[in-house]
Amino acid sequence: MSNRPNTLYLVVPCYNEEEALPHSAQVMREKLKRLMEEGKVSPQSKILFVNDGSRDGTWRIIHGLCEADPAFAGLSFSRNYGHQSAILAGMMAARQHADIAVTIDADLQQDIEALDQFLERYQAGCEIVYGIRNDRNTDGFFKKMTANAFYGLMHLLGCKVMSNHADYRLLSKKALDALAEYKEVNLFLRGLIPTMGFQSDVVYFDVKEREAGTSKYTFRKMMTLATDGITSMSTRPIQLITVLGFLVSVFSFCMIVYCIADWFLGRNVPGYTTSLVVSLLMGGLTIFSLGIVGEYVGKIYLETKARPRYIVESFIWKEGERREEENSNGSD
Ligand code: UDP
Ligand code: MG
Repeated sequence: MSNRPNTLYLVVPCYNEEEALPHSAQVMREKLKRLMEEGKVSPQSKILFVNDGSRDGTWRIIHGLCEADPAFAGLSFSRNYGHQSAILAGMMAARQHADIAVTIDADLQQDIEALDQFLERYQAGCEIVYGIRNDRNTDGFFKKMTANAFYGLMHLLGCKVMSNHADYRLLSKKALDALAEYKEVNLFLRGLIPTMGFQSDVVYFDVKEREAGTSKYTFRKMMTLATDGITSMSTRPIQLITVLGFLVSVFSFCMIVYCIADWFLGRNVPGYTTSLVVSLLMGGLTIFSLGIVGEYVGKIYLETKARPRYIVESFIWKEGERREEENSNGSD
């Protein structure tokens, strides 16, 4: 069926996934085997695990898989850099060998059978294919609510993010090369990739329950992702501060005129409550605004330092040949 080159690398970020990994690896391997047999992907295709500084036996398991079967490859970070960095590192490593990279979670919540549709879209000429979840039924109330609030806010701020798309995505070699040109440290791939353009399409899939283990996205990690998303994609919060500042100034001016008029009319100003409310309000607004500006200044600070986005401690990749590199980094 295929005429475009089709060496596929499945990029799988793993953080403390020792419970889910053995089964997930087996399911992924079987799927890859079927795709190879059907001629949809080349025999050189691989499953590339990215160990994001796990504290459990994840890397040991990945190591074992790579030893046993050259269809597995592994890359290990020197510490936990987070999901976004892990998938970026995986895609950048895949770029060296693959024509197509698909990022997928280690817990198999994202339906791996949708791969066939991803590949069809690629063969039809798409450089990017986004996986969109059909519903959020498997999510808890809290996750559903925070996710909806986040996407609502992003749209309000004018960011082109796709709702219910969570990094289950195909990128062609062309798109991977384009992505490599982006050097930003403040990484929010879901927002960044749609800005690259290219012919793209979506594939809908059902979300399943997590196979094993628990969610690795703690509340803190979710908040960091949300702030990164907003600050990396939009400067509208800073513009809103300007608007807010203007409105408060107009209000203050009116208050001044009112107070002076009062003074001239010789009225007794009871004033205590009013002044307390106004100063508290102003204090709150000022600190909040400073916080938002600070958030951006902090990001600028990080960007100007241009530190590597991740440090790869070891890399296992076999094709008869085996490579173990030390200290390559994410600045490429
Ligand atoms: N993950 C990661 N680094 C982290 C947190 C998560 O690489 O710091 C990986 C994790 O192993 C999984 C994927 O990101 O493969 C999605 O995480 P998870 O399934 O825990 O998130 P949820 O589905 O609950 O949103
Ligand atoms: Mg999950």
